[in-house]
Formats: sequence, structure tokens, C-alpha cells
Amino acid sequence: MRMDMNRRDFIRLCGGTAAMLGLSYSWVPEIAQALEQAAKRPPVIWMSFMECTGCLESFAKSVNPSTADIVLDIISLNYQENIMAAAGTQAEADLKKTIGQGGYIAVIEGAIAVGIPEAMMVAGKTSLELVKELTQNAAATLCVGTCAAYGGVQAMRPNPTGAKGVKDAIGAKTVNVPGCPPNPAHMLPTIVHYLLFNKIPDLDSDGRPLFLYEQKIHDNCERRAHFDAGRYVTQFGSKEETLQYCLYKMGCKGPETHSPCPKTLWNNKQSWCVKCGNGCIGCMEPNFWDRFEDFYQQLPNVPIPGFVGVETSADWIGSTLVTATMAGVGIHAVTTAAKGRFKKHPEEGEGPPPAKTEASQGSED
Ligand code: SF4
Ligand code: SF4
Repeated sequence: MRMDMNRRDFIRLCGGTAAMLGLSYSWVPEIAQALEQAAKRPPVIWMSFMECTGCLESFAKSVNPSTADIVLDIISLNYQENIMAAAGTQAEADLKKTIGQGGYIAVIEGAIAVGIPEAMMVAGKTSLELVKELTQNAAATLCVGTCAAYGGVQAMRPNPTGAKGVKDAIGAKTVNVPGCPPNPAHMLPTIVHYLLFNKIPDLDSDGRPLFLYEQKIHDNCERRAHFDAGRYVTQFGSKEETLQYCLYKMGCKGPETHSPCPKTLWNNKQSWCVKCGNGCIGCMEPNFWDRFEDFYQQLPNVPIPGFVGVETSADWIGSTLVTATMAGVGIHAVTTAAKGRFKKHPEEGEGPPPAKTEASQGSED
């Protein structure tokens, strides 16, 4: 009732959250209880540093539950410069009091200016000073968005201010919910996990909750069958694009990006980048602005399923399958041929194939 939701919607929310957390449906009562007990709503301080406020914009677009539900019923948002009612001395007093009491969740948006601290100042303090103050008594530190998590666009070459993500800036343990912007459907389950288990979730080596970010976009993409079959879009506006073929050759970074976007979707489960017709740009990966600098450049050496331990690339499979189809040869025959032709991984116990000789090259194809 507090969340102005009927029972069916509330249970659906709890069920969806259980799925995101990797829990069975039998956990729904506990999740419902955790949300209900948010009567003890954990205090939250949300601070913004070097960023564009897109992360807060994204959070503000949360639909189920709505931002108002989260702010008024699930957490106690004691400080957020953009949406809090208090201002000036009153706001600073609230901030000081919450930090003094400890046990709050520190939510950080934006990168920290480490090389030139004066490049980012709020009320006479640098972002470096503020983030240290903010995290000192926090029960958990949640970095929302790629800037807070890894430095984001501010840390892109040549990084004039020496911008860094929070962990790299001050060495604090952070839970990272990256994205440019982050998806509110990833923020809520992270907060619910904390409420439910009273501890931060298991994290991957980049500080992301494993229950959300363990798999790659490519593992769950709706266009994956086209990738596997070698059917790619090679030009926007083409027939292949209309047929919604795989966007790998248009630069999709899904094969190297860890995120549940194809499952959680965006905008109240309406759509997501690949469904909209643009490849993933890898916005949830560290250093993606530099690493994936040319968003439309095809990734090199993407492994092909069914070719485990075989060194090949999507380019090769695409052209080989087309050639094979034209020649009336089945996929199975092609993959078998490829397994014999390409080097196996050393852990599989077999060394590389014999070097090609001029004599062998002639008969190979
Ligand atoms: S390359 Fe991109 S579009 Fe193609 S299957 Fe992978 S994630 Fe989907
Ligand atoms: S699909 Fe890729 S670019 Fe789009 S939001 Fe997800 S991680 Fe970011």
C-alpha cells in the first residue's frame, strides 16, 4: 500500500527481482519482506562529481518501482543535490549528520579528479576530499555509472585532470553498477540484495555484481543465431539490416561486454541498443571510451561457438559458411573441416598443426 502498488504488481516486482538476483521464485516472500521492512529504510547519500547527470536522469526514469517509490519507500535519500528539497546550510547539516551516524549507503556518480584535484570542487572542497569524507563511515559504497566506477569519459585519453573511478582514486571497496548511463533495472536489484542479505553481493574483478554482470551481451543477444550462422549486417540501410541480422560487422561490442541488457532491457522493458538496430558500444566495460574508441570498427578475433579451442574469427566463419552453403556442403562438414584446419588451444593437449607447405596448400581447399 505504501508503494501504491496492487498485490499482483508487487509480487511481480519481487519475482522479477528474484530472477535478477539469480534466486528461485521461492525467495519472493523474503524479497517482499525486505522491501516491506524498508520501513527501516537505509539512509543514502548520493553525491555527484565529474559527470553529466545522465546517471541520475536514468535513475529518475525508473518505472517499476518508480523513482518516488524508491526514494520515499525503499531508501531514505538524505542527500542528493539535484532532487533534495533542502538547500544550503540545512542540506550541509543533514549531510554531516548522516555521515556522523554512519551505516549509510554512499552512492557516487561521476569520476574523481586526482591529477588536478581543483578541477572538481563543491563548496570549497575537492572531489578527492569529499569522496574520502563520504566513504569513511559508509556501510557500502555504490558507484553508479561508468564514470564513478572506472573514470568514464573524463578519464579518456589524454585525461587532462587525471580523472579516476572511486576505487582507483582512494582505494575504497566499491560495488560498481556501470553504464553510460547505468540502467535503473540494475541499480534496484543491487540495493535489494543489500537489504536482503545485509552484505554486498559477490563481485567480478571489475567490482560489478556477479549476479548481474557475469554473462556477456553476446551470450543472450536475440541476434545471436544470425551471428552463429554467419549472417551479418554490413551496411546500414541494407536488406540485411531490415532482416535484423547480427551487427558484429557494424562494430557491435557485445562479444566483449559483460551486461544483462538483453534480459533487463531499457525504459521499462521496452527495448535495448541492439534491438533498436545499433550495436552495443560496450558502455559497461572499464575504459570503454578508449578501448572501443571507434564504435563502428569490427572487433577482431571473436571466437565462434562450436569451434571450442579453435583459433578462428567471425570473419572466417561468415565467409566459410557462405561458401559452404553455395557449394552445398553442410555446416557440420565445415566445422569439422575447420577443427582439423585450425590450431587447438594448448590446454587441450594438442600442439599446432603442421606448418603449411607449398605442396599442402594446393590441396587444402
Ligand atoms: S555481435 Fe552484437 S548483434 Fe551480433 S549476436 Fe553478438 S551481441 Fe548480438
Ligand atoms: S547494450 Fe551495450 S551500449 Fe547498450 S546499454 Fe548495454 S552495455 Fe551499454
